[in-house]
Amino acid sequence: THFGYETVALGEKQGRVDEVFRSVASRYDLMNDLMSVGLHRAWKDAMVSALRPPRTRPYRHLDVAGGTGDIAFRVLDEAGPAAHVTVLDINPDMLAVGRERAGERYGPRAEFVEGNAESLPFEDRSFDGYTIAFGIRNVPRIEAALAEAHRVLKTGGRFLCLEFSMPDMPGFDRIYDAYSFNVIPRLGKAVTGDAESYRYLVESIRRFPTPGVFADMIEEAGFRRVTHRAMTGGIVRLHSGWKI
Ligand code: SAM
Repeated sequence: THFGYETVALGEKQGRVDEVFRSVASRYDLMNDLMSVGLHRAWKDAMVSALRPPRTRPYRHLDVAGGTGDIAFRVLDEAGPAAHVTVLDINPDMLAVGRERAGERYGPRAEFVEGNAESLPFEDRSFDGYTIAFGIRNVPRIEAALAEAHRVLKTGGRFLCLEFSMPDMPGFDRIYDAYSFNVIPRLGKAVTGDAESYRYLVESIRRFPTPGVFADMIEEAGFRRVTHRAMTGGIVRLHSGWKI
């Protein structure tokens, strides 16, 4: 693409991604806590605070690549009783864990749908908000996913994306590299028996467009007032845009 990030072997890529998450689904939540030393909870809280879903009005939300439901449950906890969240993920094993976690607690307010971020099974202008957390990096055609996000949002709808990025704090990058290449695959192997999947995840962070390039892609998809901010020394970024 003209954004110059890696687009080779797109079909192969989705197959690899599906294998990774099938392999780790049952240990996914535990691994998140271990790998991020619990920080992923704060990053996700920050995304949902930025979203500020209404507490009294009806609100329809779509969480793409929603996996085991972490973002969806936070949105429902934050929003009022008239909120509804659809969790969409391509992987049935991740969704199964999410459904089980949702249990009785959220009832019909949480819905789990198998589907692809690149071609969402929803009508135009169906949602007030769209989130994707640590998911877009795994999607082979990022522009297609962004175009779909824009399509399914209502006018006035909010787009938020949480994603890893490379740290921008001097000195921190070396610690980050050592952690990514040594600690993460070993931890992955110890907990899930699968070092390769975690090696893949580390590499996918390096291949993802830089924050500035990604912001341009969000803008190109039609979003306005596009901004992004770094968290935890730049290892994670929150991107925001509006459909207006
Ligand atoms: N959002 C959750 C969280 O923050 O804990 C899960 C993130 S997990 C790192 C990435 C998720 O993206 C996986 O559940 C995977 O199945 C999903 N995924 C990968 N490719 C996808 C696609 N093309 N469409 C929808 N979901 C996809």
